[in-house]
Amino acid sequence: MTTPTRTEIPLNPHVSSLPPYNAGMNIAAARLRSGRQDIAALASNENPDGCSPKVAAALAGLNPARYCDPACTALRTALGEKLGIATDRIVVGNGSEEMIAAVCRAVLRPGAVVATICPGFGLHEIEALANGATVEKVAMRADLDFDIPAILTMLEKAPAIFFLSSPSNPVGPALDRDGLARIVAAVRPETLLVLDEAYFEFTDDGLPDGLAALCASPLSFVVLRTFSKAYGLAGLRVGYAVTSDARLARAMTAAKTPFNVNAAAQAAAVAALEDEAWMRASVSALKAERARVAAAIAAMGLPAARSQTNFLFLDVCRDSQAAMEHFLSNGIIVKPWKEKGFESFIRVTIGTPSDNDRFLDALRAFATG
Ligand SMILES: *Cc1c(COP(=O)(O)O)cnc(C)c1O
Repeated sequence: MTTPTRTEIPLNPHVSSLPPYNAGMNIAAARLRSGRQDIAALASNENPDGCSPKVAAALAGLNPARYCDPACTALRTALGEKLGIATDRIVVGNGSEEMIAAVCRAVLRPGAVVATICPGFGLHEIEALANGATVEKVAMRADLDFDIPAILTMLEKAPAIFFLSSPSNPVGPALDRDGLARIVAAVRPETLLVLDEAYFEFTDDGLPDGLAALCASPLSFVVLRTFSKAYGLAGLRVGYAVTSDARLARAMTAAKTPFNVNAAAQAAAVAALEDEAWMRASVSALKAERARVAAAIAAMGLPAARSQTNFLFLDVCRDSQAAMEHFLSNGIIVKPWKEKGFESFIRVTIGTPSDNDRFLDALRAFATG
C-alpha cells in the first residue's frame, strides 16, 4: 500500500513550538522501566492517604448518562460559603491547571508580557506562550527563597500577568506577611496578579491567607486552589479560581469548555469539602512526616529548601538525572530538575512513612555511592 501524499497544514507557531510539560512518571511506566511492582510514587505531590471516605459514597450515586452541570452550581455554592465569596467570582476548572489556561486565554493578546518566577510551575510559562505572550522570569535567591527586591523591580514593568505560586512549586517556601504586602503594594493596577495557592492547606499558622489579603487590596487578581493535593482528588481533576470581580470570572468562563468539570469530579469535590476534618488530619500527619524527612536529609549534609508544601526540593549534589535513575531502580519515582542552575536538584513528595523510609535509604546510598 502506498502512503498518500498530504499537504502539511500550517500550525499555530505559538502552540507547535511549546516546550513539553514535564509531568511526573506514572506508576505503570515506572513498573515497566524498573521491573519492580512495589513502586513508591513520590513525583507528583499526590496525597498518599487517598481521600475522604465520603468521596466514594458520593461517587456511588452518579448517573453517567446525564450531562454534568456546566455551572458547577453545588460546588461553587459550597466554595462561596466556605470562603465568604460571591459565587459569581468563582470559576471551577478541570484541575486548577485548566484555570491557568483560561486566565491566559481570557487576558493575553499577542505580544503581551507575562512575568513569573524561576524555577516555577511549568504551566505558568507554557500557557502564556501558547497565547502569544513573551515570558520574563525572576530567579529565586541562591538560598532558595523569594527574591522580593527583584520581583518588585520586575513588577515596575507592568506585565499583563504576574504568575506566582506561594507556597512555591517546585521550591517550597511561602511568602510571609511582609513579602506578600510588598508585592501587593508594587503590582501596578494594569497587571493581573495570579496567585497560585495549590498548597495553601499545607501552610503553617501565622502565614498569610493570600485570598484574604488580595480581597482587601484594590488589585485585580485570580487566586487558584485545587482539590488535587491536600484533598487527594488528583485523578478526578478539579480545581478553582477566585477572582477579584465577576467580570474576570465571566471572561474565564467564556475561555473554558462548557462541560469542563465532569459529574464525578463535581460530586467528589462537594463531598470532600463536607469532610474538612479528614483533610486536616491528613495534612497534619504529612507535615509531621515532612519534618522527619527534612531532618534526615539535613543529617546527610544535603541542602534542602524550607517547605510549606507536601514535598521537599533538595540538592543531591550530583546529576539529578542520575539520581532519578538510581531512585527508579529502587522502585521510587522522584522528579529530577533540569533547569539551568538546578541540575543537581530533585523534588520528592512526602508519601507514607514506609515510602519515605525507602526514599531516605536510597538517598543515603546515592549520597555515599
Ligand atoms: C499541582 C499544581 C497545580 C495543578 O493542580 P491541578 O488542580 O491538579 O490541575 C497548579 N499549580 C501548582 C503550583 C501545582 O503544584
